[in-house]
Amino acid sequence: MIKNGPGKIVSMALKNLFMKPATIEYPNGKLHIADNYRGKLTYNAENCTGCGLCVRNCPAGAIKIVNEGTKTDRKMKASLNIGRCIFCGQCVDSCPRGCLSCTQNITLSSLSKDELEVQL
Ligand code: SF4
Ligand code: SF4
Repeated sequence: MIKNGPGKIVSMALKNLFMKPATIEYPNGKLHIADNYRGKLTYNAENCTGCGLCVRNCPAGAIKIVNEGTKTDRKMKASLNIGRCIFCGQCVDSCPRGCLSCTQNITLSSLSKDELEVQL
């Protein structure tokens, strides 16, 4: 015996016609992102000592830290390759100075591979 005959399909189609969509219109829809979501990183250069722990512990080789100043007058810069980053949060956990944190920024796509290397 066939349980899902044409009548059942039509009634399901009619029911779904008046239901709220399960999807969200992008980019205009309001998306709920969890507070502890691991999106794009942010970096606080002021507290960075350049110890390199974040770079060493990154499993994807996605983060770079450079000192563009001198030993006595540091100008720390961080860059992230969004195409490589797996958003694991290991660098955030590794930093002894709390310089790195995850944001809820999820709009990271790009049409150009070069644009995936970003300054933090
Ligand atoms: S979140 Fe993970 S993959 Fe991305 S830079 Fe940090 S350690 Fe590397
Ligand atoms: S682990 Fe923290 S203090 Fe060390 S280089 Fe990375 S961001 Fe800077």
